[in-house]
Amino acid sequence: MTTAEIERNVKTVRAEIARAAAEAGRSPREILLAAATKMNDAEAVRAAIRAGVDICGENRVQEMLEKNAQNAYAGVPLHFIGHLQKNKVRQVVGLCALIHSADSLPLLQEISRVALKRGLVQDVLLEINVAGEASKTGFRPEELESVLQEAARLPALSVRGLMAIPPICAKPEDNRPFFLQMQKLFVDKTEIKYDNVRMDFLSMGMSGDYTEAVRCGANLVRIGSGIFGPRNTTTT
Ligand SMILES: *Cc1c(COP(=O)(O)O)cnc(C)c1O
Repeated sequence: MTTAEIERNVKTVRAEIARAAAEAGRSPREILLAAATKMNDAEAVRAAIRAGVDICGENRVQEMLEKNAQNAYAGVPLHFIGHLQKNKVRQVVGLCALIHSADSLPLLQEISRVALKRGLVQDVLLEINVAGEASKTGFRPEELESVLQEAARLPALSVRGLMAIPPICAKPEDNRPFFLQMQKLFVDKTEIKYDNVRMDFLSMGMSGDYTEAVRCGANLVRIGSGIFGPRNTTTT
């Protein structure tokens, strides 16, 4: 992809978000656009930032550290959106403004432990395995209540919302039931007050289904191939 193509893609994605938001009676300004930058180099990342994405989201710690050393993310917040291993938490806490993929209690505890040592509070989203897929990590919807209670007790962690990765779909509408289930969980939990929990972000929607996610209440979408073109190898 050339810089011009990336710019054009970002414009198209913004326009689609605005259209879906309007259909749902929402303002497009409510919706943050994160570029899912995995497997794209620093130059492509910078082009996306110049084109006006709000956030960069990375999946792999090593790749993120390499691009960060090249100053690839300058100008926008950096988020971590991939599966995070406990032994890599030290490299992510503090560097990433938001970790979307907090998917187990031991991981939450480790994030809080590391953040406490550094004297900061790490913002996270709880990842929900909304379709109950064996291949995916994340909390079960039924667990969310007890996880929020546990998370509220962790001193250096703040839950800022929920994230989900529904199955790859042929049409955006195919994931509507999962998006609606997420919206309901998000709204239900917004109404309950826990310490250290503020339901600000509902992170869902990728290149294949973000328009439907926006119609169902997403306020943070994560777009990779829709901005950068197809990736060379198939990965998460
Ligand atoms: C790769 C990735 C995306 C973006 O996927 P596309 O289908 O390329 O838009 C979004 N979220 C996560 C967690 C990802 O790993």
